Amino acid sequence: MTLSFDPASPSFRCGHFIGGAFEAAEPVLSLHRPSDGVEFAGCPVADADVVDKAVRVARRAQKDSGWGTCRPRERTNALLRWADLIEQHALELAQLEAVPSTRLIGQLIAGDIAVTAEQIRFFAELADKEGGEVVPTAGNQFGLIVTEPYGVVAAITPWNFPLSMAGWKMAPALAAGNAVVLKPSEMTPFATLRMAELSVEAGIPAGLVNVVLGDGPVTGNALTGHPNIAKVSFTGSTGAGSAIMANVARTGIKPMTLELGGKSPQVVFADADLALAADCIARSILFNGGQACVAGSRVIAHESIADELSDRLIKLMAQPGPGLGWEEETTYSPCISARQRARVHSLVQAAIEEGAEVLTGARDMDHPGYFYQPTLLTNVSQDNTAVREEVFGPVLTLQTFGTEDEAFALADHPTYGLAAGVYTRDVSRALKSLHRIEAGTIWINRYGRSRDHILPTGGYKSSGIGKDLGRDAYHANRRSKSVLIDL
Ligand code: NAD
Repeated sequence: MTLSFDPASPSFRCGHFIGGAFEAAEPVLSLHRPSDGVEFAGCPVADADVVDKAVRVARRAQKDSGWGTCRPRERTNALLRWADLIEQHALELAQLEAVPSTRLIGQLIAGDIAVTAEQIRFFAELADKEGGEVVPTAGNQFGLIVTEPYGVVAAITPWNFPLSMAGWKMAPALAAGNAVVLKPSEMTPFATLRMAELSVEAGIPAGLVNVVLGDGPVTGNALTGHPNIAKVSFTGSTGAGSAIMANVARTGIKPMTLELGGKSPQVVFADADLALAADCIARSILFNGGQACVAGSRVIAHESIADELSDRLIKLMAQPGPGLGWEEETTYSPCISARQRARVHSLVQAAIEEGAEVLTGARDMDHPGYFYQPTLLTNVSQDNTAVREEVFGPVLTLQTFGTEDEAFALADHPTYGLAAGVYTRDVSRALKSLHRIEAGTIWINRYGRSRDHILPTGGYKSSGIGKDLGRDAYHANRRSKSVLIDL
């Protein structure tokens, strides 16, 4: 059976999902298919009143349903049923995602959907295992740390992996006993809406999962600033993350998890397996058209192997061709929008004007979709635009080093610290790199997340605050209360 489908066939139902029901809303923002540029749907923009309604409904549902105080295994079981339903509706969800986003139907079925279901199961299983603690006190006293859900968590997700980001945010918040009001990216709302609808079918009480549609300045702002939002969980750009911090600071004090941008280095030492390193580097920058927060966009190679590595990279980067996201054989993603592609190109042009040499790429692909050629730039200094800025496209820079100290100095980015890759066969050098590189994740002789959801993900510096995934994400959705009893 082929996974290819007609992009006009999915039903792009678009309204806010509040209290377990859809609310019709006028589409305001027009949406284009990134694979071929065709306009296909619209997205409404929830104003402060709609957001207020969703938060009130969520708050009431969280209290009245007993979701936060029930036997935790009941939450586990409902979340496990949700994960099963997501897998049973994999094709429908993948189709809703493949048309508006840069995700490809084949990758969605093999990756995103299965991973989302697994992540929900991971957090479901924590609900009846993670608790507080009894602490040491004097014998005539009893000390406890108990944990409780926050109440209503606001979640805001980007367009680059809409379904799995929705899973990252909702699963730990729900497992920990909270209700959620989620605002997906205005460009990719459809699969998230269907996922929310399935939560009710799974037995998660209506009102626990709510989705409001809209942009950042109107809907996002109303949501993060709402007085009954007890915690904010955001994934997106560093610029939007700092706007959210400022808005929250203006309207109250609440904890925030911020998963933000990156400019991650991949350091290749002279003793590395070059075929492996080239393969990992090329895959990391080609995957989703370079539109991944952890894209390893800065290659830092020892001068003795830099030429061989760049030859290998040029060959691997020449391979992908443009294709439609809804055709099974497509392997290369477009930029999300014409605007994003124009931004990628203008950053590449700025880099060239500042002295960068083009080894391959540096222009749009000849296709009606928003495709950009995989691009490799060299002769770039630390303050070149292509080294400094998160391009969020298929653009790699190549810098060289002589000594280990030079390698680690180049790996250090003034702003970002999300992830890093290190390629070497020397175990002590590999272990040293753990402390020499400031990043929330280090991959050695590999690049990219595995399906081990126990490993938290999050950034150092302006790449973020707090962690998604792992036990950390579960605990970030509960607050602790200290109790001391005189016996
Ligand atoms: P974006 O910041 O433009 O938008 C992300 C979300 O935030 C969208 O839903 C948007 O509507 C909303 N938003 C924007 N401004 C807002 C505001 N002032 N208040 C509230 N909400 C607001 O990011 P994007 O272009 O959708 O996604 C790409 C960015 O996301 C990249 O920078 C990428 O590195 C980052 N990202 C990070 C991670 C991570 O785990 N660190 C994962 C995926 C993406």
